[in-house]
Amino acid sequence: MNGKKILVTGGTGYIGSHTVVELQQAGYEVVIVDNLSNSEADVVDRITEITGNSPKFYKIDLTDSDALREVFVKEKDIFSAIHFAAFKAVGESVEKPLMYYRNNLNSLINLLDLSGEFKVKNVVFSSSCTVYGQPEKLPVTEQTPVIRPESPYGNTKRISEEVIQEFTIAHSGFNGIALRYFNPIGAHPSALIGELPRGVPNNLVPFVTQTAAGLRDQLKIFGDDYNTPDGTCIRDYINVVDLAKAHVAAISRQVNGKMRNSFEVFNLGTGQGASVLDIVKGFEKATGKKLNYTMAERRLGDVEQIYANASYAEKELNWKAEKTLEETLKSAWEWEKKLRNIE
Ligand code: UDP
Repeated sequence: MNGKKILVTGGTGYIGSHTVVELQQAGYEVVIVDNLSNSEADVVDRITEITGNSPKFYKIDLTDSDALREVFVKEKDIFSAIHFAAFKAVGESVEKPLMYYRNNLNSLINLLDLSGEFKVKNVVFSSSCTVYGQPEKLPVTEQTPVIRPESPYGNTKRISEEVIQEFTIAHSGFNGIALRYFNPIGAHPSALIGELPRGVPNNLVPFVTQTAAGLRDQLKIFGDDYNTPDGTCIRDYINVVDLAKAHVAAISRQVNGKMRNSFEVFNLGTGQGASVLDIVKGFEKATGKKLNYTMAERRLGDVEQIYANASYAEKELNWKAEKTLEETLKSAWEWEKKLRNIE
């Protein structure tokens, strides 16, 4: 038990909950702050069932700085905050940009403000490869230029990274790590936690599992005329448990004081690109389920292909993705089955 206390905002969400499990299993004490706007309270019980250890939970909206202050007052000696809590629906952000800027940026500003006031010295930020847009050169390294993302959602990620970087410059001794996720998929092997999309899923794998479960008639593959080997878009799909472990590695780096800079960025991916058809075929192979799918129009705003060069995280964080795509797709299906009571 190393006992250090980690504040996890958005800790009942998809990546947050998996990270809480890994943190507890690595011996950290976890305090979750979440407003349950896109998650369920029973996730805390599920986490407890997996780890045998109940994380503290505060149902708080991070835009409410007084409420957040109460947490900092009560929870002394927070070592680092891992900041997941944010709105994340790309399409919705295009329709409601102010809602996205207001929520995602004010939450971060409140968190940093109180971190400064209460002498919390570290933050780990949940960023995204969306900050690279469609890069000219693949795979994407941390030196690949950041562009202005197409969606307000993506732009909140870019701006948040800059806000954290500038905060570290202004506050000597404060450390920031931004983790740029590629496409997180799959679920915990216990099938007790996983992704819980509300309504019709926007993301590929939840749509696939819901189609296999009979909740959706048919998967539409958005575009088969891209300049890729099979014509469908390419992404770097990363197992959510592997991804969660990278957060523990980032916290260890802060604990050990091994940062090269007050603000650092890491790509978190597998280093392998997979097409939409690879996912469909991989899912069928991993689960033995036939998937009903059809080719459809391109989706507005999709980049053709993106995948990570994951070597910097391997070198500096001593972390790399370990699970295979097939076992990850199987875990997504096990989770969906459990959710829908399918045998
Ligand atoms: N996709 C698809 N049908 C769907 C959902 C997604 O063909 O119902 C494709 C999408 O066009 C993209 C890939 O799957 O090429 C991954 O999409 P997702 O929304 O999961 O992630 P992102 O676009 O953010 O990388």
